Amino acid sequence: LAFSSLSLKEELVKNLSSLGYEKMTPIQAKTLPELLKGKDVIGEAKTGSGKTAAFGLALLNKLDVKKFRIQSMVICPTRELADQVAKELRKLARGIHNIKILTLCGGTPFGPQIGSLEHGAHVIVGTPGRLEEHVIKGTLQLEHLNLLVLDEADRMLEMGFQAALDNIVGRTPLDRQTLLFSATFPDQIQSISESIMTDPVMVKI
Ligand code: AMP
Repeated sequence: LAFSSLSLKEELVKNLSSLGYEKMTPIQAKTLPELLKGKDVIGEAKTGSGKTAAFGLALLNKLDVKKFRIQSMVICPTRELADQVAKELRKLARGIHNIKILTLCGGTPFGPQIGSLEHGAHVIVGTPGRLEEHVIKGTLQLEHLNLLVLDEADRMLEMGFQAALDNIVGRTPLDRQTLLFSATFPDQIQSISESIMTDPVMVKI
């Protein structure tokens, strides 16, 4: 299935062909139509499935670059994954001028991150502990967030981030779109999805 069959912005579709993304991967083909309708989606997907572009394209398509405020956020279990996600988002966003994607992870100094947040961003990619610190301190404000992604949710719960996630998600608008990707589905995933998602579509590949 071709990306051009979707209602994606022209600058995104053009860039995809220049990246050599010819056809959608199965997770993209199954989730993107739902994501673009604004639905909450639970996706069963591992690294290598193309899940980053699935949520990345939905996120970039929804974003209004003229509104310079935080509109979407991706929460990842590790700094390595957050860096990888940010890199893929920047690649997908090449057709969108002046877009600002900021990563906020632990293991790096706090002060410069505050400076970056003061300069503004459209998209945040980060890890739960550091994101929680920022929301508690008030340096990260999420009142304009309209799309939230939990990536590798099972790993985040295994790592003990349930409370941090609850704290962060609790400071985002209720009418946001929420996406959750996970390789496995233990009971804890079922319960977090029930507490933070609205009528989610379940996609398995
Ligand atoms: P991910 O599972 O998100 O880590 O993606 C795995 C790799 O597949 C990344 O290197 C992507 O750049 C690449 N990729 C994602 N979607 C496509 C696509 N539709 N066609 C070709 N490559 C893709």
